[in-house]
Amino acid sequence: MKYLTLAGHAEREYAPDKIFAASQKAKAAIAQFGGDAVINSTLGECLDEDGKLMVLPTVERMIRTMPVEEICSYAPIGGIPGFNEAVQISLFGQASQRFFVESAPTPGGCGALRHAVWNFLENGDAMLTTDWFWGPYRNICEEHGRRLETFPMFDEEDRFNCGALEQALGGLLERQNQVLLVLNTPANNPTGYSMTPEEMDRVVEMIRRFGALYPDKKITFCLDVSYIDFDDTFENTRRIFDCIRDMPENAMTLVVFSMSKSYTMCGMRCGALVCLGETKEAAERFKAAMSYSSRSVWSNVVRMAQRILVDINLNPEVKRQADAEREKFRDLISRRGETFYGEAKRVGLKCCPYKHGYFIAIPCKNPAKAAEILCGDNVFVVPQARGLRFSPCAVTTEKCLRAPEIIRRAIEKSEEE
Ligand code: PLP
Repeated sequence: MKYLTLAGHAEREYAPDKIFAASQKAKAAIAQFGGDAVINSTLGECLDEDGKLMVLPTVERMIRTMPVEEICSYAPIGGIPGFNEAVQISLFGQASQRFFVESAPTPGGCGALRHAVWNFLENGDAMLTTDWFWGPYRNICEEHGRRLETFPMFDEEDRFNCGALEQALGGLLERQNQVLLVLNTPANNPTGYSMTPEEMDRVVEMIRRFGALYPDKKITFCLDVSYIDFDDTFENTRRIFDCIRDMPENAMTLVVFSMSKSYTMCGMRCGALVCLGETKEAAERFKAAMSYSSRSVWSNVVRMAQRILVDINLNPEVKRQADAEREKFRDLISRRGETFYGEAKRVGLKCCPYKHGYFIAIPCKNPAKAAEILCGDNVFVVPQARGLRFSPCAVTTEKCLRAPEIIRRAIEKSEEE
C-alpha cells in the first residue's frame, strides 16, 4: 500500500476491542433511553448501586493528598523502596517465609503478563491456558510473536479439567523446550470459577511429574491472581499458595499481581510480575531480566500508585482500614453474582460454574448473534468465542435479577434458525 511503511509483523486488521465496543453501544443506549432501561454489563469496573465508580475511600484520600513530587517524579525501574515487601504483604499477609520473592513493577497485570510471555517463551512458542480466558491473553501472545493454546477448562461435572490440562501440557512439552502455563484463579475472568486447593495440588503434582519426565525442558507456572481479593476470605483464597511446594529444579512459579481490582486503581496502571523463587540466585536473575525488559519497554511504573501500595501495606492501621473497605466491595459484588447465578438456575439459563468475582460466563453456540439480539433488549454483554460474559461488578442487584430471563430468551432465539 502507498504511503504505508508498517513492518510485516505490525500489519493488523482494525479490530475494535470487543469489550470497549460493547461498552460504547451501551453508553449510547443509556443516553437515548436512560440508565434504568439499560443493563450495561460490559466493562470490568465496579459500579455501586447508583452506577458510580467504586473507589476505596482510603485510596481516594491518599490520591487527593499526595505531594506533587510523589505524583510527578520518576520511580526506580525496580520499584520504590518497600514495593517488593508491600506486594508480598498484599498477596500473603506478610513477607514470604517460604520463597525468595522478587517483584518487578509493571503497568497493571497486563504488563506483568507481557513480561511473562516475552521472557519465559521463545519466539513462536505457545503459552497454555484454559479455553475460557481473558481475551487480551491472545493479543499479548501475538503482539510478541508467540501463540496461545488452550485446554478445556471444565470436565463433564463442571470441575476444573485436570485431565485435559495434563494432556495439553504433555503435548506442548513434546514440541517446546520452554512452556508457560497461565492459570487465572481465583474468580476467573470470564467464568468466576475459583480452583480448589485440591485442584491446585493436582496441578503442582503434574508439574513435578512433567519436570522429572522432561529434565532438559523449562516449565514456568504463572498464577494470574488479579481477582484474588474478590473471592472468598483472605485465608481461604491464599490456600492456593500453600500448594506451591517441592517444585522441580527446571520449574519456576510466577504470580501476576494487579492493583486494578484490589486497590480499585484500574486507570493508574500498576501491578507486578512476582517470582516465588526457590533460591536467592534464581530470584535475582529473574529481577535482572525483568528490569532490563522494563527499561526497554515502559521504563518505570507510575510512582503514585506504588506509593499508595507501600503506604497501605506497610502501615497496619491503614491496611486494616483499606481491607475493611474492600471487604464491603467484595461482599456487594458476590451478592450480585449470587443473585444472577441463582436466578439463572431458576429460569434454566446454563452458566459456567461460578464461585465469586466480577464475571459470569454463559456458554452458547452463537455469541455474536445472541449479543446482538440482547442489544435490542437494551442488555449489553460481551460476546466471547465460547459464550457471553456478564459483569455483576458493573450492574445493580436488581438488574442481576432481571437479566437471566432476558438472556435465556435471546440465546434461544439466536439458536433458532
Ligand atoms: N488478568 C486478567 C484475567 C484480567 O481480567 C485483567 C484485567 O481485566 C488483568 C489480568 C490485568 O488488568 P490490569 O492490567 O488492569 O491490572
